[in-house]
Amino acid sequence: MGWFKRSLDQQIRLFYLPISVGILIAFALASNLSSSRKIGLVLVLLMAASVHWDLRDGGVVSRWLYTRGTSFEVRNYITVSIAFALVTLLLAAGNAFYTPLIMLYYIPIVLSALRGGHRMSLFFVGILGASMLAYFQIGFQLYGYAYSEGSLYLLLFLALSLASGLIADRLRRAAVDLSALYETGRALSSTLNVSEIYALILNIVTIDLAPDVSALFMMDSQDTLCLQAHRGLDQLDDEELKIKSGRGIIGKVAADKTPISISEANRKWHLDFVTGISSVMAVPIVVGEKLLGVLMVGKRAPYAYGYENLRFLEALGSQAAISIQNAWLYRRTKEWASKDALTGIYNFRYFSERLDSEWSRSLRYEKPLSLIMIDLDLFKKVNDSYGHLCGDEVLREVATLLKSHTRETDITARYGGEEFGIILPETHYQDAYKVGEKLRQAVCDATFKGGTDSQNIKLTISLGVSNYPSTTNTKSDLIYQADQALYAAKTKRNALAGPLDASEKLDLNISELN
Ligand code: GH3
Ligand code: MG
Ligand code: MG
Repeated sequence: MGWFKRSLDQQIRLFYLPISVGILIAFALASNLSSSRKIGLVLVLLMAASVHWDLRDGGVVSRWLYTRGTSFEVRNYITVSIAFALVTLLLAAGNAFYTPLIMLYYIPIVLSALRGGHRMSLFFVGILGASMLAYFQIGFQLYGYAYSEGSLYLLLFLALSLASGLIADRLRRAAVDLSALYETGRALSSTLNVSEIYALILNIVTIDLAPDVSALFMMDSQDTLCLQAHRGLDQLDDEELKIKSGRGIIGKVAADKTPISISEANRKWHLDFVTGISSVMAVPIVVGEKLLGVLMVGKRAPYAYGYENLRFLEALGSQAAISIQNAWLYRRTKEWASKDALTGIYNFRYFSERLDSEWSRSLRYEKPLSLIMIDLDLFKKVNDSYGHLCGDEVLREVATLLKSHTRETDITARYGGEEFGIILPETHYQDAYKVGEKLRQAVCDATFKGGTDSQNIKLTISLGVSNYPSTTNTKSDLIYQADQALYAAKTKRNALAGPLDASEKLDLNISELN
């Protein structure tokens, strides 16, 4: 029983091949050839068998072929040729061409199909058939027509080679797709970065389906598909391409949540964002009932994709869906963890983390760093007069106003109750001071609604500024100085203060300070 636990390859090598060669030699010896011919035939058989073994095991001959740059495919052709030669020799030795033993050719035909798919098996059957047509002169009648026996065998062998070749092709394709999916799954699960996931998906699509264009559209909140990643759409700007659900092939896939495969684009079914694409496959990316997006591939040639290709794309779509969903969840969770629930701007935790990293960056690259601390003036009064809910609303409005008056690169955060902090990377003291002044003025000028249109609430803020390297060169001091400055500003309210007067000339050289 242990025998059958060995791999088929081992079984063939250790058992079936030696047995077949033994039988062939026995046939050769039993034939009515002259002794010298028998010895010649046995030697040829043994040589052919050794070459065959050698090629299977990567021995002397295969290494010799390999060093000459012979491809794997050529080696396959040699192996299969040997198998055909062996059968021919056997039949010749037994003079058995006119007996049912001719069906022994099934073995090399199936072998060629396994080795090289339907192309290789048809190649060999072509040669075999041609020789048989020439060799078999005996005719027979079928349905009143005369045929040569060779044509009958040719037809049989052709049918066999096509059938086994196509099965082998399909198996090989399935194996390739499976390993591609497995590898993709592994790669996808190793990242939570959305753009990396998009790139991975398009990579695998490009390797496996060799499309002329491929694109990944993701659904936004307005029921619109937005192009997120693509290959071969270089004339497009990523942000530009948006497709309404239901419109065109992509929109239809999204609306119906079912895949579409088009072999020949026509006026009704074509891609409207790229020209010259005939074969199109598009699959929805869904998790449960929820549509996340659409993955599409296109090829200029018509009828470029078959059923298996669509199945593969669908499988890839399902795998992508889970990874994208996970990445989105992760991103959202991370965002929630860094955002303040009331105002929607960054929270204290994120502020502290970023202050650490920006501080290190400033030291490393010798860049300035500024900090502004803000406290709303007499905010308790707002709560007392309008209620806490209204106060919350005002806090939200102030946060939005502060954020809109700072740069993208600045980090505006809610530091505590009605206190805010702004980190200004690569900003000199005077510039931060100007930003502070602008903010003070903006809040002073604004009227806040507190959630209702009828109210016009006026507010002011007090601000403290500090800077590296102009006012300090330690991080804790940066916060302490801004705090102290804020404290000083509070004595006046609606004011801005810093360790240095804004008018002082402060073009300090960082290297002087260090
Ligand atoms: P000052 O000008 O001295 O800063 O006066 P102030 O009333 O603003 O005093 P303080 O800075 O100590 O502000 C604390 C008050 O801010 C207490 C509370 O009424 C209000 N506050 C803090 N956090 C919140 C919040 O999340 N929502 C609301 N509605 N009010 C808050
Ligand atoms: Mg206050
Ligand atoms: Mg306060």
